Amino acid sequence: MQVVKIGGSILKNKEDLILIKQKLMDCHNCIIVTSALKNVTNMLIEAYETKNTGIIENIYNMHITMTDLTDEIKGLLRKFRDELKTLVLMDKNLQLRDLVISYGERMSTVVIYSFLRDNGFKISYIIDPLIVTDSVFGNATFIEGRTAERIKNTVFGDITIVPGFYGASEDGKITTVGRGGSDYTAMIFASVLNCNVRIITDVPGIMTSDPRIFSDSRTLPEVSLSEVLKMSHFGVKNFNYKTFTPVIGKDIDITVESLYEMGKTRITRKPVKSVKCVALASYGAAPERNLLVFIGHGISDPEVSKNILSVIGHEHLYHMDALSLSLLLDEDLINNKKCFQEASSWIK
Ligand code: ASP
Ligand code: MG
Repeated sequence: MQVVKIGGSILKNKEDLILIKQKLMDCHNCIIVTSALKNVTNMLIEAYETKNTGIIENIYNMHITMTDLTDEIKGLLRKFRDELKTLVLMDKNLQLRDLVISYGERMSTVVIYSFLRDNGFKISYIIDPLIVTDSVFGNATFIEGRTAERIKNTVFGDITIVPGFYGASEDGKITTVGRGGSDYTAMIFASVLNCNVRIITDVPGIMTSDPRIFSDSRTLPEVSLSEVLKMSHFGVKNFNYKTFTPVIGKDIDITVESLYEMGKTRITRKPVKSVKCVALASYGAAPERNLLVFIGHGISDPEVSKNILSVIGHEHLYHMDALSLSLLLDEDLINNKKCFQEASSWIK
């Protein structure tokens, strides 16, 4: 058994679907967990906030034009559209919001299913939530025992596609697990089924830094689970902070790879002492203040952190533990920019 997660950033058009098909060619005994098409969750939130049914029509069109679909799938998408148009006009509450935004994953699931089936895959889909969660709408957490029971009682085909991001509470209300939460869904499936996971995304694995901010970003071939747990707390690769929690203590192989280029990251259990990555994180709610965070095993060891602290200055140190070192950026530090130019060179 294997879990493959398809990210929303690689769900833009038919070309993406063709590349996904090629990636999955040899998949058997596999569960595909999918995100919504790129930007659809944001659009659903906007439709809910503004009660704008025109946005729902646009979302429907994005799906219907992505690839050739059978009448059956077109009918399903029309039904989702009509339900959504009713839902967004109702009185707002968090439960309704979760129900509305779960439609992104429902719609992408049936479109990808249809495309792969037409391309010869022995595939089925399951739209009813298999993940059982608490009732914290917008940030639900899975309940392990109940979820395991439900997943283990489900008959999966050779390839089964399921929606990420949403589950249902014990009393059957649709819940969502937080933004970027379909990676978390993939980890839940892998944890329950005790199988490996491939996360397929638009960048070649987990990188040393965000290439849009820092120069010389490169793929990290290996990262430990405790490092990636820490990275998720600081929004590295936009991981939701809960993403990897279901696999703590499990011996599961996880890889993060790109749909478009070579390079991947393996998440291992072995700690290797070095600075792995640098990220900018927000500092509380203050928009103009940021933390520059270095992450890696043994970072609090003076040997590992000395370059960083001697160049930037100890006075900026905000927090340090065995896995991370954060510097609170003040205006001086931001203006001097040195840390941004040099940060990547401190990563070994
Ligand atoms: N579609 C959801 C979001 O945009 C979940 C995900 O992409 O992982 O947050
Ligand atoms: Mg995503």
